[in-house]
Amino acid sequence: MNGCLAKRAVLVSPNAPIEIWDGHVPSPGAGEVLLKTLFGGVCGTDVHLWKGEVELPGPCILGHEGIGEIVELGTGVATDFAGTQIKPGDRVYWVPMTPCGRCHHCTVTKDASSCEEWVAALFGDAKAPPVATYAQFALLPGRMPFYRIPDDTPSEAVIAFGCALPTVLQAYERIGGIRVGETVLVQGSGPVGLAATLVASMCGASQVIVIGTPARRLDYARRIGATEVIDLGIETTVAGRREGVLALTGGRGADLVFEAAGVVPAFAEGLELIAKGGRYVVVGLWSAPGSVAVEPRVLNNRNLTIAGSALFQARHVRQAIGVAQKCHRQMPMAEAVTHRFELKDAEIALSMVSRLETIKAVIVPN
Ligand SMILES: [Zn+2]
Ligand SMILES: [Zn+2]
Repeated sequence: MNGCLAKRAVLVSPNAPIEIWDGHVPSPGAGEVLLKTLFGGVCGTDVHLWKGEVELPGPCILGHEGIGEIVELGTGVATDFAGTQIKPGDRVYWVPMTPCGRCHHCTVTKDASSCEEWVAALFGDAKAPPVATYAQFALLPGRMPFYRIPDDTPSEAVIAFGCALPTVLQAYERIGGIRVGETVLVQGSGPVGLAATLVASMCGASQVIVIGTPARRLDYARRIGATEVIDLGIETTVAGRREGVLALTGGRGADLVFEAAGVVPAFAEGLELIAKGGRYVVVGLWSAPGSVAVEPRVLNNRNLTIAGSALFQARHVRQAIGVAQKCHRQMPMAEAVTHRFELKDAEIALSMVSRLETIKAVIVPN
C-alpha cells in the first residue's frame, strides 16, 4: 500500500459537493500506525458539517468513526492503547481525536472530553495523511487512541453504533450508571437513542421505553431491548406521550430519562416524564441552540438530578468494543448497518442519513 495513491472524501466548504482527492500513502514514522480503512461510519455530526451547521475552519476529510486493518506499525508501537499486543492484519477501532495531555482537563480533572484539543484533529489539513475515516487509509499519530477488535467480534457490530455508543457510555457514567430494575426512558431513536436502549437493557433496566420515529427504527429498538415504544408519528402531542409514559410506569414516570432527541422542546417534555427522585441526562442537544421555560422548583420539589454529557473519552471507545464483543450474539447489533456506500458516494450517504432513511450508514472505502 505504501507509496500508492489512495483516495479521500473532502468537504471543501459547507453545502458544496464532496470532492474525492488523491494522495500518496506514506510509511509510518516512529510511534505512528498505518491503517487500511475497512469502515467509516456516517454520523449525524458529518451531516451537520456538510450542511454548515457546525463551523468549519477549512477543507476537511470527513468521518470520525473508523475500523481499520493494520498495514504497518511505526517503530516503537507494539500494543494498542490498552496494552494489547498488535500486529499487521489486526483490526482496530479508532476515533480521530487526541486530547492534548497537558491542559487542566487532561491532567487535573482527568476529563479529556472537555479538552479543547480533543476534536481539533477532525479539522486538520485535508492534504495531510488522513486521520479521518472517509479515506482509503489512515495514518494515526502517536497520541491518537485506538484499540484492537477481538477476533470473535464482527467489525459491523462495532461500527453499527459508531461514536453513539461511546457517547452513551460516558453519559450513563456521568448520571451515575443504570440501577438494576429501574425504568429507563429514551427520547430519540437515532443512533444515540438506540445505543442508550441497548445499554439500558444490558445493564439490567426492567423497563426501557423509547419515544421516537420512524417505525423502522422503533422496530429495531424493540429487537435490542426496548420493552415499549411510543411513535412520535402516531402520538403527536406532548400530553398524549406523557399520558402514555405515566400509564406504563404506574403513574410515577421514569427513574432515568435519557435525552437523545436532538430538539430543544424535548428537554421540557423530558422533565415532565421523570419520576420523583429520578435522573435526567441530556446528550442530544449538542448542536441545537434555543431555550425553553423551566420552573426551577420542579427540580427542587421533585428531587431531580440533571446532568449533561458531551463527547466521550478514550476509555469509552474501548468499552464500546467490549459491549459489541459481549452482546453481538444475543442482540442483532450488526444489523443496524442498513446501508453501505463506496467512498465516491459519500454525498449520497450523507443525504440519506439526513433524511433518516438509514439506521446506520457506513462508507466502505476499499
Ligand atoms: Zn459522531
Ligand atoms: Zn487537554
